[in-house]
Amino acid sequence: MRELTVDLGERSYPIYIGEGLLDSAAGYFTKHGISKKSTLMIVSDSHVAPLYLETLEQHLRGEGFRVTSAVVDAGESSKSLAVLEQLVAKALEAGLDRKSAVVALGGGVVGDLAGFLAASYMRGVQFIQIPTTILAHDSSVGGKVAVNHPLAKNIIGAFHQPEMVLYDLNTLQTLPIREVRAGLAEVVKHGLIWDESFVEWCVTNAGKLQALDADALGYALYKGCSVKAAVVSEDERENGLRAILNLGHTIGHALEAVAGYGELLHGEAISIGMIGSAKLGLRYGAPQSVYDVTKQSLQSCGLPTRLPAHLDTDAIMDAMSHDKKFKESKMVFVVPVAIGKVEIKSDVPVEWVREIVEELKQ
Ligand code: NAD
Ligand code: MG
Repeated sequence: MRELTVDLGERSYPIYIGEGLLDSAAGYFTKHGISKKSTLMIVSDSHVAPLYLETLEQHLRGEGFRVTSAVVDAGESSKSLAVLEQLVAKALEAGLDRKSAVVALGGGVVGDLAGFLAASYMRGVQFIQIPTTILAHDSSVGGKVAVNHPLAKNIIGAFHQPEMVLYDLNTLQTLPIREVRAGLAEVVKHGLIWDESFVEWCVTNAGKLQALDADALGYALYKGCSVKAAVVSEDERENGLRAILNLGHTIGHALEAVAGYGELLHGEAISIGMIGSAKLGLRYGAPQSVYDVTKQSLQSCGLPTRLPAHLDTDAIMDAMSHDKKFKESKMVFVVPVAIGKVEIKSDVPVEWVREIVEELKQ
């Protein structure tokens, strides 16, 4: 079992990472002040619930918790106001009150949705994250919760920190390999922005990680969460440092939008985006080795490093112009200057970006 703390003063909380935590969740709930008198609501999705929901429900009930649960359709479309409204109805019917907790059992979709329910129901109730994807090591730490609007992703949201994050490594065994690799993209990203030796470790252990070796996964998630926690502790509400977490995301978000959400998974899109950022780094004078190691680390995790050639450069540029990071003819990018170190460049010429998008197709 590994444990670390997200240090946010009175909003600090622990992250527990280990095998079999679902079967001992009640002990953690009690330790962190989750009430047995008020009903708690587990939110899960249609892929995760058949695998793990019953185990968790029965365990918690057996330990004296009052439990109700709600299962949403798997997929990004559940991060909507309509689904939120259904969850609120369910919470009211089940009698959730101000002392109740909402528990997210699933990937980032469930975490963001259940988190926003917890942030808004009765102006905020306790929230527990039980992430079941590798990607969710990123989404479950940091307190950003949201649903989407048809016109924009994550646009209706809040900052709402959980009481704890319970990462049961056993749940990861059922993840499809593509989801495993997509999640590793954010793990590698946390190394690339912060910790050179962790990037080396990822390259060495990429095989074990993709084979879901519990020990390797536990360490990778511990390190990934540590970086995220360190950044968030310094900048809880994204006024500065937190921007470095966007490495690869400017191009990545544009690719997701142009390819159509779903064709490229988020991690795949940001993998290509991180290659683009490393190419930008070269133009700002970073040594070739920074690009080479970036590429090697992503490739070793089975991630794509090239853009599907059929994607239209104009459409990608256009999608980036809707990105918050675009200003006039200059763009803002997180750029690797060494392995484990990035800088925010706010004067990136749009032409460079266009050239790099073209290069990414070759
Ligand atoms: P996801 O929740 O959709 O999970 C991916 C797929 O894996 C889904 O089909 C899901 O049903 C399935 N799944 C989940 N756990 C499983 C398991 N253990 N076994 C088998 N199948 C399982 O997606 P994700 O990649 O975890 O998260 C993406 C979401 O996270 C996006 O909505 C994104 O906006 C959000 N996000 C939020 C933050 C944040 O800071 N709040 C950060 C990054 C991403
Ligand atoms: Mg991301």
